[in-house]
Amino acid sequence: METVVPYKEIIDVIKESGGDAFKLCFQCGLCDVVCPWNRVRTFSMRKIVRQATFGLTEIESEDIWRCTTCGICPQQCPRDVQQIESGVALRRIATEYGVFPKPVTPIRTVSGSLIGEGNPLSEERAKRADWAEGLSVKMFTEGMDILYFPGCYLCYDPRLKKVARATADILNSAGVDFGILGTKENCCGESIRKTGDEELFKRLAKENIKTFIDNGVKKILVSSPHCYHTFKNEYPEFMVDFEVVHISQYLFELIHEGRLELTKEYGKKVTYHDPCYLGRHNGIYDEPREVLKKISGLEFNEMPESREDSLCCGGGGGRIWMETPKGERFCDLRVEQAMEVGAEVLVTSCPYCIANFEDSRLTLDVTENIEVKDITEIIQEMI
Ligand code: SF4
Ligand code: SF4
Repeated sequence: METVVPYKEIIDVIKESGGDAFKLCFQCGLCDVVCPWNRVRTFSMRKIVRQATFGLTEIESEDIWRCTTCGICPQQCPRDVQQIESGVALRRIATEYGVFPKPVTPIRTVSGSLIGEGNPLSEERAKRADWAEGLSVKMFTEGMDILYFPGCYLCYDPRLKKVARATADILNSAGVDFGILGTKENCCGESIRKTGDEELFKRLAKENIKTFIDNGVKKILVSSPHCYHTFKNEYPEFMVDFEVVHISQYLFELIHEGRLELTKEYGKKVTYHDPCYLGRHNGIYDEPREVLKKISGLEFNEMPESREDSLCCGGGGGRIWMETPKGERFCDLRVEQAMEVGAEVLVTSCPYCIANFEDSRLTLDVTENIEVKDITEIIQEMI
């Protein structure tokens, strides 16, 4: 009897952390069949679920940190086990005990940077609006139509700053009345929440919500599907309800209403990668494709694994901050898939996907064969 007690305690902690649905699993193994990890190494969500059901989770194991929250196994699970929520519950326990296996330790630096500077990249808060230098971008004031929220990677990462600048160019061309929060903007908190740090997520979310309310924000335009997901689906947990639009939706709207005219030709073969948090998590599949199809001269080739079946880039669930050895990166497989359909340009609409695909171009040595672009970068070239 004595040995049951500690196990029972762990089961209770898992339940309290939101992992109660684990008990519904009947071990069919469908999750393991579809999980992208099993393309690159062995990994079993089914086993994690089984161990957790008996309170036998090894919280020091790297396996509880693998799930990228891609959303493909919850689509298949016949028992609604909610693998993502349940998996995050296990990470909450590990985070609480401060147990991080070696490849996960960068999370410590990320957390410190989020607390101190409001971004995960160890960059200074004071530099958050530097990407907009030389562009006609105003600070948001009450009464403006739209707050543009670029998010951390577009504000600081040299490759992704180009996406923020392309977006501002497009908005200015279409005559959109918009502003940014600059140094008052904080990380949205989506990815740190998926690593199990609920307290830090709440802190970031509350600060952002206060800033939005204090500045009279009603409608938020985002570039990252991760910001989109958390503003739209998670911030309402704090009893707020902002209108949230992703740039791919907004581009579709601007073109459809005739506010943005695409005047040039794009004579290249293009494919589109559905980011997990735009596609599977939020059902936005058509707008980016419709936008690309409006471009004259562009040849669009779909990859076999697209829309609901899109292959994860590997960057969700906080994995963007963790070490993934060469040979285990899903993004490499995805870039190869894009080249297999003859694409010269792999287009997507998420900063994590772009960062990962740009890495793959280098490590696969295919920089001459394929380009990686955010959808806004192509539209910027067409106006
Ligand atoms: S698909 Fe669902 S029910 Fe089947 S093993 Fe995975 S978690 Fe369990
Ligand atoms: S959500 Fe995706 S990465 Fe996570 S276990 Fe399921 S299939 Fe694998």
